[in-house]
Amino acid sequence: MKILVIGAGPAGLLFASQLKQARPAWQITISEKNPQDDVTGWGVVLPGRPAQHPANPLSYLAEPQRLQPQFLAQFKLVQHDQSQLMGSGVLLCAVERRGLVQALRANCACSGMSIRYQSPLEVSAELECAYDLIVVASGVNQKVSPLSPGLAPQIEFGRNEYLWYGTSQRFAQMNLIFRQQGPNLFIAHAYSYSPSMSTFVVECDEDSYVQAELAHRSEPETARWIAEVFQDDLNGQALIPQPGPGWRHFLTLSHAHAYHGKQVLLGDALQSGHFSIGHGTTMAVVAAQLLVKALLSEADVSSALACYDARVMPLVSLFRQHAHASRIWFESAGERMGLSSAELTKSFIARRNQLADLAPALAANLQYALQR
Ligand SMILES: Cc1cc2nc3c(=O)[nH]c(=O)nc-3n(C[C@H](O)[C@H](O)[C@H](O)COP(=O)(O)OP(=O)(O)OC[C@H]3O[C@@H](n4cnc5c(N)ncnc54)[C@H](O)[C@@H]3O)c2cc1C
Repeated sequence: MKILVIGAGPAGLLFASQLKQARPAWQITISEKNPQDDVTGWGVVLPGRPAQHPANPLSYLAEPQRLQPQFLAQFKLVQHDQSQLMGSGVLLCAVERRGLVQALRANCACSGMSIRYQSPLEVSAELECAYDLIVVASGVNQKVSPLSPGLAPQIEFGRNEYLWYGTSQRFAQMNLIFRQQGPNLFIAHAYSYSPSMSTFVVECDEDSYVQAELAHRSEPETARWIAEVFQDDLNGQALIPQPGPGWRHFLTLSHAHAYHGKQVLLGDALQSGHFSIGHGTTMAVVAAQLLVKALLSEADVSSALACYDARVMPLVSLFRQHAHASRIWFESAGERMGLSSAELTKSFIARRNQLADLAPALAANLQYALQR
C-alpha cells in the first residue's frame, strides 16, 4: 500500500506514525509545505497527563517530559480588576507547539518515513495515480481548489480579530482576561506552556480594532500597545509576535464528508474549531486514530474510508457546534461587560451547556479506535 500524507502537522504525523507501527511494510510519504524549522504558534493545551491520556499527542512520545509540559487545573477569569477561579474539569497539559510538532516529526523519521520539507503539494491526477490513498492533513491554510468537488469546504470567518503572541510572563492558570479601553474590549487567553514562556492570544471585535487603529500600527508598535492594555497582567513583560500572520479572523473550515475517491481529510483540513475550546489537536488525534482503525479493519481502502466517514462525521459535527458556541460567546462578550465577574464566569461556564458533552464523545471514539 502506498500512502501520501499532505501536511506534517499533528494530524498527519500522528496518523502516519500510528499506521506505520501497525503496518511496517506499508509505504508512507509525508509532504510538508514549510521548511523543517518553520512551525507556527506558541503553546497549546492538550488533555491529561501523558502517557496516561491517549488523546494527548505527548502520550505517543518516548520522553514527553523533555518538552517540559505545564499542568493546569484551573481557569482564572479577570474582569473589572476582580478575578474568579474555577476548576478546568480535566487536567490540562500545556506545551510548546513547535517542540511537539518537531518531536512527532522525529518519531516519523525514526520509523523510516521520509518527510519532504518545502514541498507544497496540491492534489492532482498524477498524485491520484501514484498513490492508493492521499491523506489531506494540511490544516486550514490548504489550497482547497485542487481537491475534488466532492470535498468542497464551507468556509466561515469569525467576526473578531485575533493575534497569537508569546510572552515570558508566567500564568499559573488558564487565564481569560477582559480589559476595556473606553468602549473597546480586548480579551486575552493566556497560560504558561513551559517554565519560561506563555501563550497570549488576544482578540477584539472589529469596532475596537478600528478605533484602536490597529490596522495602521507596525508589528512592534502593536505589540507595545497591546502590552499596555494588559500591563496589569503582563507585569512589564513584552509581547512577542510571530513572524508573518498578524491580525486574523478565525477561519472555520467544515465539510459534509471526510472523503472522496481516494482522498481523505484529517485534522483542521476536515474541521477547524475556535481556539477558545482548545480541542483542535485532540480532535486531530482522535480522527487520526479512527482513520488508522478503519484502514486496519476493513478489506479495502474504499470501505475503510466509508467506515471512517460514518464514524468521524458525527463527532466532527459535535466539535463544530461546541467551537461555534464558544466563538460566538467571545464575539458577543462586549454585551456582558455590565455583569459582575462572578456572573461573567457563570456565563462563560454555561456557554456550551445546551450541547451534548464533547469530552465523553471524544473518549468513546478514541477507545473504539484503539481496540485493534
Ligand atoms: C491561536 C490558536 C490557538 C490554538 N490553541 C489550541 C490549543 O490550545 N489546543 C489545541 O488542541 N488546539 C489549539 N489550536 C488548534 C490547533 O493548532 C490545530 O487544531 C492543530 O494544529 C491541527 O493540526 P493539523 O495537523 O490538522 O493542522 P496544522 O497544525 O495546521 O498542520 C498542517 C500542516 O500542513 C502544512 N501544509 C499546509 N498546506 C500544505 C500543502 N499544500 N502541502 C504540504 N503541506 C502543507 C502546514 O505547513 C502544516 O505544517 C489553536 C489554533 C490557533 C489558531
